[in-house]
Amino acid sequence: MLVTGGLGFVGSHVCVALAEAGYDIVALDNLANARLSVLARLREIAGRRISFVRADVRDGRALAQVFRRRPVAAVLHFAGLKAVHESVAQPLEYYDTNVGGTLTLLRAMRQHDVRRLVFSSSCTVYGAPESLPLTETHPLRPANPYGRTKMIAEGLIADCAAAWPELKYALLRYFNPVGAHPSGRIGEDPLGVPNNLFPYIAQVAVGRRAKLNVWGGDYDTQDGTGVRDYIHVMDLAAGHVAALARLESQPESFTVNLGTGRGYSVLEVVKTFERVCGRPIPYEIRERRAGDLAQSWADATLAERLLGWRARYGLEDMCRDAWRWQSLNPDGYPERPVSAAETRRRRSRRRS
Ligand code: UDP
Repeated sequence: MLVTGGLGFVGSHVCVALAEAGYDIVALDNLANARLSVLARLREIAGRRISFVRADVRDGRALAQVFRRRPVAAVLHFAGLKAVHESVAQPLEYYDTNVGGTLTLLRAMRQHDVRRLVFSSSCTVYGAPESLPLTETHPLRPANPYGRTKMIAEGLIADCAAAWPELKYALLRYFNPVGAHPSGRIGEDPLGVPNNLFPYIAQVAVGRRAKLNVWGGDYDTQDGTGVRDYIHVMDLAAGHVAALARLESQPESFTVNLGTGRGYSVLEVVKTFERVCGRPIPYEIRERRAGDLAQSWADATLAERLLGWRARYGLEDMCRDAWRWQSLNPDGYPERPVSAAETRRRRSRRRS
């Protein structure tokens, strides 16, 4: 298996699940938002060798080299940019990486006859829900550049498969992935101030931040705060293994939501996290964050019908594992990501 973005938050957890299912893995990552130390920890948890290639998914030559050197039966494609607010300020980077990266990957797959693709998509493709729960047939009206890059990449994959029918794909639309591997060795380690709720709460709990800003207390929800379908990253990882197994046993493409089918409010998450970590999470209700939805949760029945998969972990498990990761690694992974420019500088310094 080739796993692009294999050292990122979701990609690394999927590598563990794939290794446990007995697959050989090549992880490819440009380390733009991941740390090399993930690799050693992955190998330690997975108990088997995981090859690593440091490359950008937009680098067609690097992909060709991977495909030439070893047999790759399928690609799981995670490499991409994922911050909604950043995508508004930097649309070109988002289209380049998320759409351009998928295009380069598809071209290399076509050239080397790699016929199976599992794509990391997002419920962001739906935009504001017209009805809940969100089913896969809900219209696609993403409200930001990030969501549009995911929708376009989905369309690109489907168009390629129409022209090259041997290509079979799974489009997996994630709801809100949270939590961490139960070992506490790998987890979510965002750069700078976290945008997402779980890492922010975890950093408050561990003392790195004073208090949580709750973005909006006047939504039309049970307690006025936003409601989301949080899914444990290990459940999400198991969903990928199930999707791959389905593509192997029944070569037909499909699109499914991966969520639990139930939503929790921000304050429910805060209360549960407090209980699990035994510390107070101070918070303040602030203005709504621009572009946020009131609520979103999945209809997760298609995934169960098609893949025999359903989420096993609840909110308490998600908080417990996020807390274990954060408390064992209060500052995240030991080193910061190294930019490509920095690597070049270091190499030239070593040479001189
Ligand atoms: N949220 C919050 N404070 C934060 C981060 C998030 O109140 O510091 C809220 C946000 O308004 C939303 C929920 O938590 O209701 C989940 O936000 P997140 O950014 O994790 O996911 P997304 O909005 O992309 O679904």
